[in-house]
Amino acid sequence: MTDRSRGGPRAWSLLTLGEDRFFQGNEGYEDIVDEVYRYDTTVANYRAVQEGDTVVLRDKTRALGIARIERIEVTPGATKTRNLCPRCRTTNYVTRKVQRPRFHCRRPCNHSFDEPEQIQIPVTQFAAHYPNTWVSLDGGLSRTDLEDLALNRSQQQSMRELDRNALTAHLDRLSVTLPAAKTSSAEGRTRTRTRSRSRSISGGTRQRSVQERINQGPFRSALLERFGLVCAVTGPCPAEVLQAAHLRDFATHQTHVVDEGLLLRSDIHQLFDAGLLWIDPDDLTVRLSPRVAEHPQYCQYDYQVITVAALATDTTRAALRDRLAPGPEHVEPS
Ligand SMILES: [Zn+2]
Repeated sequence: MTDRSRGGPRAWSLLTLGEDRFFQGNEGYEDIVDEVYRYDTTVANYRAVQEGDTVVLRDKTRALGIARIERIEVTPGATKTRNLCPRCRTTNYVTRKVQRPRFHCRRPCNHSFDEPEQIQIPVTQFAAHYPNTWVSLDGGLSRTDLEDLALNRSQQQSMRELDRNALTAHLDRLSVTLPAAKTSSAEGRTRTRTRSRSRSISGGTRQRSVQERINQGPFRSALLERFGLVCAVTGPCPAEVLQAAHLRDFATHQTHVVDEGLLLRSDIHQLFDAGLLWIDPDDLTVRLSPRVAEHPQYCQYDYQVITVAALATDTTRAALRDRLAPGPEHVEPS
């Protein structure tokens, strides 16, 4: 699979299920965003995407995660429903939110209609599986980043090719390590860890869990973009346990200033909110309360300079300083 005439693995940005993927004439696909991506022969680039390729799964605004395609399942002889303008029989129409009739064909047709004409077209379906190599990005790559990485910037396709080397460089900056492709068994090395996920959990639920984490807000995404997948205290770690920490008490200030936030591993975040761990605004060292400093899990961080000190601004230091100023006690960890 690695010896391909096209010259090695490529990288793709894939639009996931969601209103955006509900493109005209298609009914969408059932995706489990961190495990499988489905497409068919009506999608541009369907032939070019191969096992071993790197894929970035995106929604409308940001990258959800990255993986390497481990296996592509091919199902020939399928059909799909395509919706067409009844007059010109193209998909060149828009769905109107308020105005009726609900559908309106663009120029030159200009026809308005209540129901599109439905036809069945033969397709081959593909399912790209990547259950073992998925890494959550949770917005660490923005849509703008992805635009910059795209090889062909003029195209609005659900599967777009990315500049693989530029992507790799960008991931390095985010401290993201992509697992090696598991498509070849030539190394004689078989996976010892296979995901045994409950089949009772629907893909919809799983997709939602990714979505909910992202919906913790643009603040967290902005921090992921800025710091990468890096806890300010403990260093690189999975996005799943990285939380956006407000250096100023959010309940009081109600603002999301990126300079006044850090990414903290969930346990570190709780210690931080509880006032058992803080950051010296002058030398940017982590400080632990005596009780926590005694703990073997945490003692290594006491008096260590934070991992993202190079990115700290005067605003960051001011927020850290205000946090330590005498005043009302911190609120309970949220
Ligand atoms: Zn028409």
